[in-house]
Amino acid sequence: VRARVMEVTESPDVSYEDIGGLEEQMQEVRETVEMPLKKPDMFKDVGIDPPSGVLLYGPPGTGKTMLAKAVANQTDATFIKMAGSELVHKFIGEGAKLVRDLFEVAREHEPAVIFIDEIDAIASKRTESKTSGDAEVQRTMMQLLSEMDGFEDRGEIRIIAATNRFDMLDRAILRPGRFDRLIEVPKPNAEGREIIFQIHTRNMNVADDVEFEELAAEAENASGADVKAICTEAGMFAIRDERTEIRMEDFRNAWEKIQAENEDEEVSKT
Ligand code: ATP
Repeated sequence: VRARVMEVTESPDVSYEDIGGLEEQMQEVRETVEMPLKKPDMFKDVGIDPPSGVLLYGPPGTGKTMLAKAVANQTDATFIKMAGSELVHKFIGEGAKLVRDLFEVAREHEPAVIFIDEIDAIASKRTESKTSGDAEVQRTMMQLLSEMDGFEDRGEIRIIAATNRFDMLDRAILRPGRFDRLIEVPKPNAEGREIIFQIHTRNMNVADDVEFEELAAEAENASGADVKAICTEAGMFAIRDERTEIRMEDFRNAWEKIQAENEDEEVSKT
């Protein structure tokens, strides 16, 4: 079970240069996660405790997972990822045990960055109903809190959680000593989108007529993941046309296609 819910990567292949438009967020993650791992003595000498857990929140596909991976890479830490939804939905009754396993694996692999995606799945505000499913979710969350609270010297293990639904979170997990550093990871602005276009086309055969600034302006409201999808799809348009060079029109067609797909998804959700 462990192996199926936990993704353990010795050295994730994401670096800070792969992330666009999140300068401030990157800076904060470096101070709160990277520094304590790299220079624990600094914190001791100054006499303050580094933040226990860092919570990244914002819409889907904005780079939260990338940030966590990049910091693990930068610190030569093992990256251990688990999704909150898998903890409680896939292996009913195993949630609390999996949380214990998660911290055990981290201790075996120190230095380590634990990344808990979709933390809202185990840490939502208590609902009115008291069904057995809720009780199981509660137990899983209590286990996580107790692991974090009981973590005296966590010099070599850092915890990052992520959520798309900040408003749903149980405030208990945000108390001091828990996820006490909140970092908002928003969708990119036009400047951010331009950088993300450049990042994802680094290895692509882009024609001279392509203007990333213009594309970035047109792809309003696109997330980082959308920009990446536009680039891949633009390549597909070129291939369909039996060309090896990707033109401005390919990027534009790609964005239209992706917008239509996103809209379909919205419709099917309602
Ligand atoms: P989710 O909440 O859906 O888990 P997330 O915020 O963790 O999303 P990521 O998994 O980090 O998002 O991003 C998905 C993919 O989108 C990345 O692998 C990357 O290719 C691209 N991407 C997203 N944001 C950025 C960004 N800021 N810079 C460069 N690429 C990005």
